[in-house]
Amino acid sequence: MDKGTSVDQVLGMPSSIAVITSGGDAGGMNPALRAVVRTALHHGIDVHAVQEGYRGLVEGGEAIRRLESRDVGGILQRGGTVIGTARSAEFRTREGRRRAARNLADRGIDALVVIGGDGSLTGANLFREEWPELLDELVEAGELPSDVAAAHPVLRLVGLVGSIDNDMSGTDMTVGADTALHRIVEALDAIDSTASSHQRTFVVEVMGRHCGYLALMAALASGANWAFIPEQPPAKDEWRTAMCAAMRAGRANGRRRNLVLVAEGARDLDGNPITVREVSEVLERELGEDARVTILGHVQRGGAPSAFDRYLSTLLGHAAVERLLTDPGDGPAQLVGLRGNEVVSSPLMECVARTKAVAERIAARDLEGAMLLRGGSFQEFHSILSTIQRAAPRPTRAGRQRFRIAIVHCGGPAPGMNTAVRAAVRLGLDRGYSVLAVRNGFRGLRDGLIQEMDWMDVSGLVWTGGAELGTNRWVPAESDLAQISEHLTGHHIDGLLMAGGWSGYAAAHVLHSARQRYPALDLPIVCLPMTINNDLPGTELTIGSDTALNSIIANVDKIKQSAVATRRCFVVEVMGHDSGYLALMTGLASGAERVYLPEEGITLDALTQDVRALAEGFRAGKRLGLVIRSEDADPVYSTGFIRALFEKEGGGLWDSREAILGHIQEGGNPSPFDRTEATRLTARCIEYLSEQLETGARASAMVGVQSGRVQFTDLTSYPTMIREDVQRPVEQRWLAQRPLARIMDLL
Ligand code: ATP
Repeated sequence: MDKGTSVDQVLGMPSSIAVITSGGDAGGMNPALRAVVRTALHHGIDVHAVQEGYRGLVEGGEAIRRLESRDVGGILQRGGTVIGTARSAEFRTREGRRRAARNLADRGIDALVVIGGDGSLTGANLFREEWPELLDELVEAGELPSDVAAAHPVLRLVGLVGSIDNDMSGTDMTVGADTALHRIVEALDAIDSTASSHQRTFVVEVMGRHCGYLALMAALASGANWAFIPEQPPAKDEWRTAMCAAMRAGRANGRRRNLVLVAEGARDLDGNPITVREVSEVLERELGEDARVTILGHVQRGGAPSAFDRYLSTLLGHAAVERLLTDPGDGPAQLVGLRGNEVVSSPLMECVARTKAVAERIAARDLEGAMLLRGGSFQEFHSILSTIQRAAPRPTRAGRQRFRIAIVHCGGPAPGMNTAVRAAVRLGLDRGYSVLAVRNGFRGLRDGLIQEMDWMDVSGLVWTGGAELGTNRWVPAESDLAQISEHLTGHHIDGLLMAGGWSGYAAAHVLHSARQRYPALDLPIVCLPMTINNDLPGTELTIGSDTALNSIIANVDKIKQSAVATRRCFVVEVMGHDSGYLALMTGLASGAERVYLPEEGITLDALTQDVRALAEGFRAGKRLGLVIRSEDADPVYSTGFIRALFEKEGGGLWDSREAILGHIQEGGNPSPFDRTEATRLTARCIEYLSEQLETGARASAMVGVQSGRVQFTDLTSYPTMIREDVQRPVEQRWLAQRPLARIMDLL
């Protein structure tokens, strides 16, 4: 660079962006690549993909390839990374990085998106810092014209974390962690059935060299009975005795199977590895039982990315490019991540340093510090696990009042309902309370279908779909309240947890509003949002919708494959009533051309434009059309109507089919997220009820996650938070992602 020219004078938009996947592969790298490419092209900026990670960057030539939008079509559902990843020893050398700089500058590339782990991001940062010197050296050596060097004075860099371990500071979730958790939990569900049949003990190793996230969340999601994670190394001499005592107690209480999870990087306090072999030998020796070892290994990395990973990586890939375009180039390189529901950007090397600090704290035996650095919910999940995995509740503290709380469902079935019941029963009993289950919704409460629950009654409930207690959409009328009050009084119920959907909220509010007339109804009620539709007030996300979304996209992936083979346009109808959440997220996670939402309706003009766009696409060689229609998007332009319209207008170019996914969307085992979130929010609900009861307060609330934090909203404000004309809340934050779907459609 000409020494007299300041960065500010020459720096405009990047000329061209390169995207690279590096380190271990992770589900979601492909959707991230697709989002980077399509966002860059949307802004009219050239984009290149670097094949085989930093190795390709050093080698140059064919390894750095300009991409068009179509080049990243059809990769959303593919695991791994289509542009490859590799470890590169050469890039660790200055000479290697000099060659890499030349390969980029030669092509006019001066901005880089790196998708990888902390090693890859550290390497990228070093490369960025050296960039001006590397270009000077290339100019001096006559390998790069000085005007080319002057045109690219800085290398702009944004990182996003692709890692299955969820081990990086700066983001709540890394790209690939949710997919890995899906693979682990699928395997553990399968192991559960065989282990229970034979009353066996299984010891399973899951990935995670430095971070216990996968082991911890998998333990919660699978109902494991013991877990070893790097962040909580046990004392060398104690873990064997403690673990065996817990397993023995479980058997004595009638548990049919024992499951122990061991993170790859688990160690004791002295740094000795705790291996699955050793754990199984100890169990066999001490318990005299068969203990089978399963090492899940690389299956954890593979397979189609989960719905969440497709969404997360699309969001982050898009944000990475937006950030590059506005990057002044003189500050530190940034990492884009997710906090709550927001995309955030933080200085990359600060995130790397905070990540490394966890290992340092563990080595210094500062376990609390290590847990704190992992973030608030990590600690919360660990504390819930240590209660819920027990064989029996802890003895109740003397003098503690034994309150009686009941759990009831209401609304359509939502995956995760059983998980919530399990958590409520165990966490309630552990507080010394009695927990009662109401069968058959509020109708059951009216009819007295109420039963006291025991610790082992909920064993195995964590992973089953449906609702064992039964659920329906029955909302009590004024004439039912006397009978309901009678049963609440008869069973001495002090507090109520309603885990359900739209009708459940309405029913809870009916009871709450009548509390002055019926003293038995003057009890704290807390509503836990459970519906696949994501249409409830007081929360940005409801439990059940993640499972529904995963089951929808698994089916849409199959539909897409069949459509490609025959030049077809599919109109897929998904559930949601008056909420288009499932439709929009399906669109984003499956790469649909168009999404029709009830929030926007469907117009004749829009349909005409869509037909034209489809015709243009098919004429240009497109082989698949995919349109997602939310079930109540429009009363006239039905799924059948749109299919017929597309069929007629398609002429000989394409044919059209419809697929109405129907009730498969409400079924299936809950996804790992729905299990862990149902557990965490239930724990918060029990805490809330406990707080009300122990302080003599009588407030009622709706729990939810807003801006990444668990919040309680007073149930009294329920009527002001929902629309009267349609079944959806006044505030729907997810609608902000609507423009993203349009950019990703770009063909
Ligand atoms: P994972 O978490 O999956 O291991 P990672 O990105 O941490 O992913 P690494 O093997 O540490 O994986 O790094 C990938 C590549 O990044 C290395 O092969 C190397 O080319 C480059 N790299 C890593 N650290 C550095 C560094 N300090 N300096 C230069 N390059 C580096």
